[in-house]
Amino acid sequence: LGKALNTALRKLARSSTVDEATIKEVVRDIQRALIQADVNVRLVLQLTKTIEKRALEEEPPAGASKKEHIIQIVYEELTKFLGTEAKPLEIKERPTILLTVGIQGSGKTTSVAKLARHLQKRGYKVGLVCSDTWRPGAYYQLKQLVEPFGIEVFGDPEEKGAVKLAREGVEYFKSKGVDVIIVDSAGRHKEEKGLIEEMKQISEAIKPHEVILVIDGTIGQQAHNQALAFKEATPIGSIIVTKLDGSAKGGGALSAVAATGAPIKFIGVGERIDDLEPFDPKRFVSRLLGMGDIEGLLQKLEELQKEQEFKEEDLEKFLKGKFNLKDMYAQLEAMQKMGPLKQVLQMIPGMGYSLPEDAVKVGEEKLKRYRIIMDSMTEEELEHPEIINYSRIKRIARGSGTSAQEVRELLHQYNQMKKMFKSMDKRKLSKMARKF
Ligand code: GDP
Ligand code: MG
Repeated sequence: LGKALNTALRKLARSSTVDEATIKEVVRDIQRALIQADVNVRLVLQLTKTIEKRALEEEPPAGASKKEHIIQIVYEELTKFLGTEAKPLEIKERPTILLTVGIQGSGKTTSVAKLARHLQKRGYKVGLVCSDTWRPGAYYQLKQLVEPFGIEVFGDPEEKGAVKLAREGVEYFKSKGVDVIIVDSAGRHKEEKGLIEEMKQISEAIKPHEVILVIDGTIGQQAHNQALAFKEATPIGSIIVTKLDGSAKGGGALSAVAATGAPIKFIGVGERIDDLEPFDPKRFVSRLLGMGDIEGLLQKLEELQKEQEFKEEDLEKFLKGKFNLKDMYAQLEAMQKMGPLKQVLQMIPGMGYSLPEDAVKVGEEKLKRYRIIMDSMTEEELEHPEIINYSRIKRIARGSGTSAQEVRELLHQYNQMKKMFKSMDKRKLSKMARKF
């Protein structure tokens, strides 16, 4: 899935123009990639429709290219698709009791061992209970996995009562004062009904803080029903989706589970004990898209979006030929902060305007002086600087404690900027404004 999505975006990055046809092609590629990953067709169509609509209708923020913007849209929508927020496992009470359930072979025992190791690394003392009375060697399997790390496993290969084992195991570790107790249950039931019945019985006996459903990621969109049944049976559920390493259907399983609204907290990405990752949709999608620097890109786009409002308003004014001293001040102040206009103008292909350096660059000290001078101007003077004649200049200089020379300098700056904007091609400017 990752490779196919990555290819789709690379194609976009390589294309010289981004028009409707390009967008449609990218959307089709994404569609194909998701359907191949066994994502539900209805979900795929919904998702890609949103991506296409946004890509066609929304304008990129100032300074961002159309391509960057589309990558952002794809990223955002895919993230929403997988559940936006990361939901970490919380250990609040001592001991916190966790119960894992899931059909046989889903990766429960492996996940219990991985989770124990994960928590141990974070400083928690963990005890494991094997209540799987069905699979021969279940106890030894778990013991073998965690023995190298000194994690204790409670179990009895001879005992046949799963509920009894679970209860005794929890009592045992309570008395030992561990931080977290994880109970690994049997998953002999192929059908979800039996599975959930067993979960309820053990739940009754040990009162877990959280029941964790383990789902095999290779089953693809079938994961939907499993997650749904589980979610309906218990309010305190979270999910681990396993075997996402190398499975072509992983995307299907993840989106199917996410669609139920049940929180995926971990994913299993291999057979080794360290192959467990806290699930973070944002990080996961970044990796799928194969863009190492996507975080940087998104940050840049976010910043640009914040600056956008200001520019839209200003450009509007320039376009109408309305540009007074107040506007200039706002413009200079903003440019001082972010230096955008010059940069932005240069970034827009075909604009070809190079601004005179001193027309847009004013030091902080100078800006302060401008402010002082402007404070001594009347509202009328600020809005119609043309009326400022020699005697007004003298009055303003006196009132602000500056010199006539400085007032003239301010007016000169104003005239220069005004001229610059006037000289710009109106058509190109309005095109630019629309880009913003
Ligand atoms: P259980 O019956 O639910 O307890 O499942 P097990 O924990 O015994 O796992 C069944 C098989 O799946 C074992 O061979 C595991 O090594 C394998 N397995 C579990 N999780 C993963 C995973 O994330 N990736 C891969 N590749 N294999 C896994
Ligand atoms: Mg097992």
